[in-house]
Amino acid sequence: MTRKRKSRSASAAIEARVESLQMQVKAEVRKRPGVYRMISPEGEILYVGKAKDLRTRLLGYFRAAFPAEKSARIIREAGEVQWDYHPSEFAALIEELRLIKKFRPRLNVMMKRDARHFAFIRITPGAAPKFMVVRGAGNDDHGTYFGPFHGAWQLEEALRELNDVLGLRDCRLDQPMHFSDQQELPVGPTRTPGCIRFEIGKCLGPCVSGVSQRQYKARFKVARDFLEGRQDSPLNTLREAMEESSDRMEFERAAQLRDKMQRLESLREQFDRLRFAVESLSFVYTVPGHGGEDRSYVIRRGRIRAELPAPQSVDEHSTLASRAAEIFSPSELKSTTVPAHEVDELMLLSSWFRKFPAELERTVAAAEYPRMRTA
Ligand code: SF4
Repeated sequence: MTRKRKSRSASAAIEARVESLQMQVKAEVRKRPGVYRMISPEGEILYVGKAKDLRTRLLGYFRAAFPAEKSARIIREAGEVQWDYHPSEFAALIEELRLIKKFRPRLNVMMKRDARHFAFIRITPGAAPKFMVVRGAGNDDHGTYFGPFHGAWQLEEALRELNDVLGLRDCRLDQPMHFSDQQELPVGPTRTPGCIRFEIGKCLGPCVSGVSQRQYKARFKVARDFLEGRQDSPLNTLREAMEESSDRMEFERAAQLRDKMQRLESLREQFDRLRFAVESLSFVYTVPGHGGEDRSYVIRRGRIRAELPAPQSVDEHSTLASRAAEIFSPSELKSTTVPAHEVDELMLLSSWFRKFPAELERTVAAAEYPRMRTA
């Protein structure tokens, strides 16, 4: 068979498959919220999506006008469509996220842009931690992230100032470290000569025995505490240096220090705003469901900690109230750090309530719920 004929018959096979999927969707899918999965003929989960009205969404796949459209590309690769109904669009959204995280479907990953638009500050693990600006929260389940933030470039600039003022490292992750309290190995390691940052006093020099591990970690903690709004010493150091420069009539130097302070202040403001956003996402959210399948979600700091059928009876109310009390009572540090595996959920919830602010009327604040429902 010639190449042209082969490609014509492959395309005819795809058309036939798409047509049969369309007939199946028309015959079987109902107008209800739910999650769907596009499966390849080889059984690979290609794409996971959600819809408030599954039938309309799935039929939309067959109306794509151009083969390059996202929906046309997905349906032409699919050999099968599977779907599950969920009580509400919100429930479907949460399930969609869980499935995407579990299966990482190829076409979701390729087409997903959202998280990549944001920048995060990652704290690297290890003896000499450092801050790194990354796009998206990645898949590093062991990392600790601050964010999301807009503007990776400004973040980098501000972190550079913070590193300089506190003497923190900003070198490659695989840079060998050699702390002053570190035992020499039987065959001594070749020490890396200090880089320029150590020479000019902008890094404590954990790579050249310039500092003990404990001192470096203590200094790193100062940086974290500053970002979390618990202390101001980096700003105070810069302010004092600026005033001294000013007294010495070194106005150019004083202006540079003022700019550095402003970058740090603006970084701190971003953290304050983020902390407020995270803290304000703590409540019980009750969502009306299809056919009376209402659900209550206990949300703390932007993460769903429990999901229960919305209570109808006094007993059910008190079950939810005690669950909410359990979840809200342990004091959690008012921190801006989010474990990597929870970043997506936090972003999803904050964008849900931003998009549908009226939904906040269905929420009961963390502090009020147990009292209100057991009264
Ligand atoms: S002095 Fe050493 S630890 Fe500090 S930034 Fe330079 S290479 Fe990294």
